[in-house]
Amino acid sequence: TIQLVNGDNLKSDYTIIATPADVLVPNLPKSNKPWHSVQTLYFDTDDHGFDQPIIGLIAGDDCLSNNFHFLNDVFENHPKVISVSVVAKHDLTKDQLEERVRKELIEQAHIKAGDLIQMMEIKKALPTFDSIQYAMSPTETQLTQNIFLAGDQLSNGSLNAAMLNGKAAAQAVISNIENGIFV
Ligand SMILES: Cc1cc2nc3c(=O)[nH]c(=O)nc-3n(C[C@H](O)[C@H](O)[C@H](O)COP(=O)(O)OP(=O)(O)OC[C@H]3O[C@@H](n4cnc5c(N)ncnc54)[C@H](O)[C@@H]3O)c2cc1C
Repeated sequence: TIQLVNGDNLKSDYTIIATPADVLVPNLPKSNKPWHSVQTLYFDTDDHGFDQPIIGLIAGDDCLSNNFHFLNDVFENHPKVISVSVVAKHDLTKDQLEERVRKELIEQAHIKAGDLIQMMEIKKALPTFDSIQYAMSPTETQLTQNIFLAGDQLSNGSLNAAMLNGKAAAQAVISNIENGIFV
């Protein structure tokens, strides 16, 4: 049974939990692993971008900006947007950070940032790992008879790991159904 915040209960034969499960499943040991955080700044831009879906890296030693990416379908009424990620620690105010990132974009990548649309602070951006693996096997995703796990936090912090682990969990559920293991 999955209990929602509003008190509703959902019954399921099988459940795949695609987020850290320790806060959701009773009796699991609580993980106190720290997470990597990131600040993401979204600016309007007139820059023509890369014309292909790639990420730009800022390589300057003293730069706070780490990488950037062009978007055209996330903010309504903002057809051309550049998103910049800041992972380095600093003690700048929001306004100071905005100006610093603008300066780095011009100096390092010759990109002029327009108005700031939004700045996000993502505290749990990527999980930390003692050791990483490529992906889980289907059998490794099974936590109990009817609960399966997925998510990047099981293997490595990437969309690739998230997708592969989701696929592995789905395959494990399918195997259980095909083998007639109903709960
Ligand atoms: C700024 C940024 C840029 C990134 N860029 C890249 C990149 O270029 N390439 C790449 O491979 N990876 C990138 N990543 C990493 C990638 O986004 C993650 O590895 C991936 O999204 C993890 O997918 P996931 O499904 O495991 O978890 P998530 O995408 O975090 O999904 C988990 C979901 O579970 C929900 N949830 C959590 N707790 C509960 C609860 N108690 N009840 C219900 N729902 C809950 C959350 O709201 C969330 O929607 C980036 C991450 C960030 C933050």
